[in-house]
Amino acid sequence: MKRKYFGTNGIRGVVGEQINDTFISQISASIASCMIDKGPMIIGSDSRKSSPKLKDIITASFQAQGIEVIDIGVVPTPLVQFAVPILRAETGIMVTASHNPPEFNGIKVIDCDGIEISIQKQIQIEKTFENEDFSVIQGNEKQKSTRMDLSREYIDQILSLVDVESIQKAKLSAVVDGGNGVGSLITPYLLRELGVKVTSVNCQLDGNFPGRGVEPTPEKLTTISNISSNVGADFSIAHDGDADRAIFGDNAGEVHFGDKSIALFEKWILSQSSNKKFVTPISSSSIMVDVIEEIGGEIIWTPVGCIYVSRMMIEKNCILGGEENGGLFYGPHQSVRDGMMAAALMAEILANSDKKLNKLLDEFPKYFQKKTKIKCPNTIKEEVMNHILSNIEQAEDIITIDGIKLFFLDGWTLIRPSGTEPIFRIFVESSTSEKAESLMKRGINLVSEAIQSVSG
Ligand code: MG
Repeated sequence: MKRKYFGTNGIRGVVGEQINDTFISQISASIASCMIDKGPMIIGSDSRKSSPKLKDIITASFQAQGIEVIDIGVVPTPLVQFAVPILRAETGIMVTASHNPPEFNGIKVIDCDGIEISIQKQIQIEKTFENEDFSVIQGNEKQKSTRMDLSREYIDQILSLVDVESIQKAKLSAVVDGGNGVGSLITPYLLRELGVKVTSVNCQLDGNFPGRGVEPTPEKLTTISNISSNVGADFSIAHDGDADRAIFGDNAGEVHFGDKSIALFEKWILSQSSNKKFVTPISSSSIMVDVIEEIGGEIIWTPVGCIYVSRMMIEKNCILGGEENGGLFYGPHQSVRDGMMAAALMAEILANSDKKLNKLLDEFPKYFQKKTKIKCPNTIKEEVMNHILSNIEQAEDIITIDGIKLFFLDGWTLIRPSGTEPIFRIFVESSTSEKAESLMKRGINLVSEAIQSVSG
């Protein structure tokens, strides 16, 4: 069954349209109906203007089914994921639309182990919702709702996993851009406890996200870039709206996309560990592969999506995962993306390295990426994929766990059908811009010919 409401990270939409009171109440009732042990449920929310009301509706829907709700306040998503297992809760709900614009909101549904619920559970919830197989609010069997603040316990756990003494000795300085989101409530304080001198930017919570928008793309982060070079910071960090991701800037003021900072974590953490397996989605840069080859580790590919990375880390007993959008998964803390853990680990790396961050990141090879899309009716996508596979040109390796990834000596091509739109996406990466262009031409030809051949 194809999912209708759940996307890559929970359910999201425009408030007042898809995310309306009735929908939220009924989908909450469906989630509650699918719970086996009947609680408790942990709820948290981001800084969006629509979040308090949605939180009230969700809480009431769970309470009406006799489920105890524990409200941990306005928090980053990773804090809800931290709270669910330690409070032995059955489920968690984070009210957030992550990096989407202010008019959006939604929910991320967390399982008892702190990881977002599986696709199978999402389908079960959607079936319950579609069949209206849930109890509706009666208002007469209210369960209790309690409030709890777990930010101290959460910060303490992160502190217990880094070398606090050496970080404090290093007297680092950092610029933190909270993007007016919930990362502002943890990262500046966490870094200060580590002895880092923090200059905070956009750290006032504001549901309009007036600072630099919700999505921390390097081109939007000019403020931290300027401030960093002015105050001579060792690094800068920017979170997305729910702070499960972190994008870093270096001491020279250059902001890097996640591929390089994730590769730095990969190199630093895995070279010191006997467990050298690294979990990453199939769309990741060759930098991740270069690092693994250098340290003699193993790369484990997953389909695109943080749930796959988290679940694979547990299944294969891995301590590290990463996505090039700035999502770092550090298993000893929790096997989910966590922007605050990434901040502390970056401080640890810089405190223990004799090189500045720009030098550390410069050591990685530079790759050129290109992406495009080609229109294709949804009905023939599967046939087109099969046609491409049977007509594949010579490749060093082919991986088909999510689309088709072709590895060549001079780079790679990834062809993926979109799950939501009638298009194929093509991604390529190579060591020069010209080579990437030539891979892209070959990729476009391969997909166009397959579409033509299938549609006859
Ligand atoms: Mg996010």
